[in-house]
Amino acid sequence: MNENVVDLVGLLRSEVEALMGELGEPAYRGRQLFHWVQARRTRDVNAMSSLPRELRAVLVEHVGVSRPEVSRVQRSLDGTRKYLFRLEDGEEIESVLIPDDGRLTTCISTQAGCPLACRFCLTGLMGLRRNLRAAEIVGQILALQDRLEQGERITNIVLMGMGEPLLNFTQVERALRILSDEQGAHFSPRRITLSTVGHIPGIQKLAASDLGINLAVSLNATTDAVRDEIMPINRRWPIAELLGACRAYPLPNRRWLTFEYVMLDGVNDSREDAKRLVGLLHGIRCKINLIPFNTAPDLPDRASPRERVEVFQRVLHDAGLTATIRESRGWDISAACGMLRVEKENA
Ligand code: SAH
Repeated sequence: MNENVVDLVGLLRSEVEALMGELGEPAYRGRQLFHWVQARRTRDVNAMSSLPRELRAVLVEHVGVSRPEVSRVQRSLDGTRKYLFRLEDGEEIESVLIPDDGRLTTCISTQAGCPLACRFCLTGLMGLRRNLRAAEIVGQILALQDRLEQGERITNIVLMGMGEPLLNFTQVERALRILSDEQGAHFSPRRITLSTVGHIPGIQKLAASDLGINLAVSLNATTDAVRDEIMPINRRWPIAELLGACRAYPLPNRRWLTFEYVMLDGVNDSREDAKRLVGLLHGIRCKINLIPFNTAPDLPDRASPRERVEVFQRVLHDAGLTATIRESRGWDISAACGMLRVEKENA
C-alpha cells in the first residue's frame, strides 16, 4: 500500500466516521465505508457502490485497504490449515484455521516472534521481531475470510498464535474492537479468547476494559521453581501474584477463566503437581485445559505419556474441577500449539 494513504483496516468505526467528517461528509458515510472494508471485505474503493462517485474519487487519494499477503498455505491430514503471511516490511507470521464439530476456530498472531522464551515453545526461539499493528491483526482474519471454502464461516477467534498479546495491548485492544463492531465482522467477544503467559499489568488492563472477551492463562507449573525454569516470565510475575490477579479478575456471569497446562514428561506432570494445582486454583471459577506437549527437535522436553495425562486429569476431576485434554491439531504441518515459527533464511 502507498505510504501516503491511511490504512482503513486498522481504524475503529468512530475514526472512519471522523475521517469522513474531515472530508465534509456525514457520519453515516463513515459507517458505510467501515462496513465495506470490515464486513464486505472490499478493497477497491471504486467498487463501494453505496458511496457517491465523487466521494469515491476523493477517497482513492486518501485511503487504502491493506492485506497481509498469504505466501504459503499448508493443509493437515486432520483438516487444519496453516497460513504463512508476509507483512509489508518482509516480516512473517502464521495463522491457523481449525475446523472442529461445526466450529471453525482461527488462531491468530499478535507479534512477529516473541520475547518471552518459554522453554517448550518454538516461537520463543525466534525472539521478538516486532509487535503487529492492529491492521495486521485484523488483516489475518480478513485474509482468512477471503479464502474460506463454500459454506464456511469463522466462529471463534483465539489469540494463541505467535507472540504474547498482552505485550501488545494497545494494538490488540484496537483490533478486537474493530473485529467485534456490529457494522464490521461482528464477532461476539464471547467467541474471542486471549491467551497470556500471565503478564499481570496486562491482565489488570484487560480487567479494567469493557472488552468482554475470554481469558486463558498459560500456567504450566505448580511451583515457582519449575515455572521459573520453563517460563522465564515467572521470575518477574510468580505464581502467587499471577493467581492473585486471576482472583481479582471480574468474570461476567456464567463465564470461566481457562488455565492452560502443557504436560511435560517428568517436569510438571506428577500426581503431586495435580494435587498442588487443585490447591492453587481453589476459589477461582475456572476450567483447566491440559495440552499434550508437541515435541520438536529444537525443544528439550518430552511429552508426558498419555496415561499420566489421564491420571492428572482424574485427580482434577475428583476434586470437582473441570479439566479437558486438548486434542492436538495440525501437528503434521507444525501448526499445533507452540509450533509456530518462521525460519529466516539469512536472519
Ligand atoms: N503467549 C501466549 C499466547 C500463545 S498461546 C501464551 O503463552 O498463552 C500458546 C499456548 O500453547 C500456550 O498455552 C502454551 O503454553 C502452549 N504451548 C506452547 N508451546 C507448546 C508446545 N510445544 N506444545 C504444546 N503446547 C504448547
